[in-house]
Amino acid sequence: MTSSARTQIVDWATEIYNDLDFTAARNWLADKPGRKAAGFLPVYAPKEVIHAAGMLPVGIHGHGAIEIIRGDAYYQSYICHLPRSVVELAESNRLDFLSAALFPSTCDVIRNLSGMWQVMFPDMYVRYLDLPQVADPAMGAQFWQRELNVIRKELSRLADVDISDERLAASIEIYNQVRKTIADLYAMRRKTPWKIPTEELYLLMRAGEVVAPEIFLDQAKAYLAAAETSNERIKDRTRVIIVGSFCEQPPLGLIKTIERAGCYIVDDDFLAGNRFMTADVPTDGDPAENLATTFTSSAIKTSVLYEADPDGKRNLMQKLAKKAGADGIIFCAASFCDPALLDRPMLREGAEAAGIPCIAFKFAENSGQFQQFREQAGTFSDSIKLWGDA
Ligand code: SF4
Repeated sequence: MTSSARTQIVDWATEIYNDLDFTAARNWLADKPGRKAAGFLPVYAPKEVIHAAGMLPVGIHGHGAIEIIRGDAYYQSYICHLPRSVVELAESNRLDFLSAALFPSTCDVIRNLSGMWQVMFPDMYVRYLDLPQVADPAMGAQFWQRELNVIRKELSRLADVDISDERLAASIEIYNQVRKTIADLYAMRRKTPWKIPTEELYLLMRAGEVVAPEIFLDQAKAYLAAAETSNERIKDRTRVIIVGSFCEQPPLGLIKTIERAGCYIVDDDFLAGNRFMTADVPTDGDPAENLATTFTSSAIKTSVLYEADPDGKRNLMQKLAKKAGADGIIFCAASFCDPALLDRPMLREGAEAAGIPCIAFKFAENSGQFQQFREQAGTFSDSIKLWGDA
């Protein structure tokens, strides 16, 4: 593939990222009469069930570029920014193409947003998703299987499509491919980060939240093929992991700033829902049971899930850094993000006890000044290069 083909993919993803009207999703709906779309909030939602209903799963992640006029009226000042931009998107009718909205049990803010949604859109199907949070995986899987079957039944009714076992298994197969392709992209960036700038990878992932998985797969595989043949030369940069951006997303400018300040991002938790399960979901047997057991047996370690192992969080950063071959960790969470900021001291203490250099900052999705981040990330990178092995 030529570099211009790669540029075209990045341009395509950039256009989707910048489009506050969700034109890609609207076009998909317009392509066939009767199609429906279901939105989901961060972090994780079972897209397979939405897809099996013939609906388009659409990630609602807020956006820093939207001017907040009505969003502030719904929330107090000392919470994160994401719900404000989501409310603003909704109140400005930019989400009026959705027939359903799923709110996972990420935190109290998202829980409250699901209640507001029911008041704002009484005719929309709204479902709060209680993800399994128990120490016993078997019990958690049983609970989640039951929840999945409830959503399955309700989306079947809404879409007027029987979500048979076969249909659900076929959707699982597609999302297995999506997960595999994303894992391949992340593995290649880990190995050769100069071939996959995180700015581009992020844009591609973000587009994947809005388009049908079949379209995403085509684009992601083409991008991967192009990246493999890239002639980009390695630069003298420090390898870092970004931790804490699993829900509200940093502005693109911040991601660019970190890399341009002298860091290669070799792992991150941006849009973590698209790789929440780390194993393939089996496609034979009961598909809801398969989704549930794969969730409880392979979900990533994250601040929005209960951690049964008392040392689990303390040791997590060391494991991640080792896997990524990282020189340091940047804790980069949204301001007022309870799950990320409550975990941060434990995670950081564990990292520093293992001798891994760390810095931390907070952002808002609408942060517009990056100078302070550039200075911090640049100094961090230089200090690791100068004294990392001391
Ligand atoms: S950014 Fe944090 S506090 Fe805000 S909605 Fe997401 S998880 Fe909740």
